[in-house]
Amino acid sequence: MLNLAELASGKVRYDYTRDEIQAIYDLPITRLIFLAQSVHHKYFKPDEIQMSTLLSIKTGGCKENCAYCPQSAHYSTGVDAQGLLSVSTIVEAAKAAKANGSSRFCMGAAWRSPPKKSKQFDQVLEAVTAVRALGLEVCTTLGMLDDDQALALKEAGVHAYNHNLDTSPEYYKDIISTRVYQDRLDTLKSVRKAGMTVCCGGIVGMGEEKVDRIGLLEQLNQLAPHPESVPINLLVKVEGTPLQNEEAIDIFEMVRTIATACIIMPESRIRLSAGRTQMSDEAQALCFLAGASSIFTGDKLLTTPNPGDDADHRLFQKLGLKPLPASETGTEFYENEIVKPKVKSSSYQADLTYEATL
Ligand code: SF4
Repeated sequence: MLNLAELASGKVRYDYTRDEIQAIYDLPITRLIFLAQSVHHKYFKPDEIQMSTLLSIKTGGCKENCAYCPQSAHYSTGVDAQGLLSVSTIVEAAKAAKANGSSRFCMGAAWRSPPKKSKQFDQVLEAVTAVRALGLEVCTTLGMLDDDQALALKEAGVHAYNHNLDTSPEYYKDIISTRVYQDRLDTLKSVRKAGMTVCCGGIVGMGEEKVDRIGLLEQLNQLAPHPESVPINLLVKVEGTPLQNEEAIDIFEMVRTIATACIIMPESRIRLSAGRTQMSDEAQALCFLAGASSIFTGDKLLTTPNPGDDADHRLFQKLGLKPLPASETGTEFYENEIVKPKVKSSSYQADLTYEATL
């Protein structure tokens, strides 16, 4: 039995079953969005959207075979491979991102894992420290990490590390065969051990079944503590990748995935990530109503298109939303942005229950 009053209270749990998650996912959309809003309002300021900028600091030529990725060396996608950017180029991009309202700057490199004890890794560490000195939250996504690499990144000033689970453990092998699900979980463990926050989510629309979206949400829910950021991506079909002809998924599956993530990981910031160029303003607004409170800015997301700053500013104006202000002290800012729950579950009707057994 789903206890909607408990769900609306924003109680943090790590033990949602697949049946419970599916029952939440399948709620009438009005109930689902009401619940997501109830939870979201307890932890976040509902009119503020975190703006993150993602820069590809090393592009293409990746040894992995992620079926959605134009940067994999396994596929011919026309992406121009580019070596690691210089520290000064990265810093200039970070300054521009800050001037445009971004409070988080993410650096992505198409590596299976960063080359160990290399000049390249040292260069990344130097860039991290320089960007952090601008007062931006620094996030990196560089592939698999071991404990030493994770610690070095933390010490250089990385606040968050992105490493997605992508999909359910069952569907994973249809998407990637060059590494296994456990590799991903191990990297997330190293990230936590080093003291960085975790940015971890997945992709919707890769040909998965609903049960796989539920399975992904279950895995994310079992990470304790929950990832501080949960990016939910809509597949961007890129010519040359195995998923180039994938049938478009109904946008309400995306909305339901976001809302369910918001409800079962109430303290996490849900990020509406890739795929926004395929979405109307109305669809994006629904995702914000479902609890998404962060986007990536700019006209490019690594190598795929993104709406761009003008379109986002126009949308924000229409919706009355505003960017979360950048802080001079990245980590403190992140911790302070969370508003602890003030409303007790008893203020909700206790008889709002649903049968969770499917
Ligand atoms: S590891 Fe990252 S860069 Fe490499 S193919 Fe997979 S998604 Fe692309």
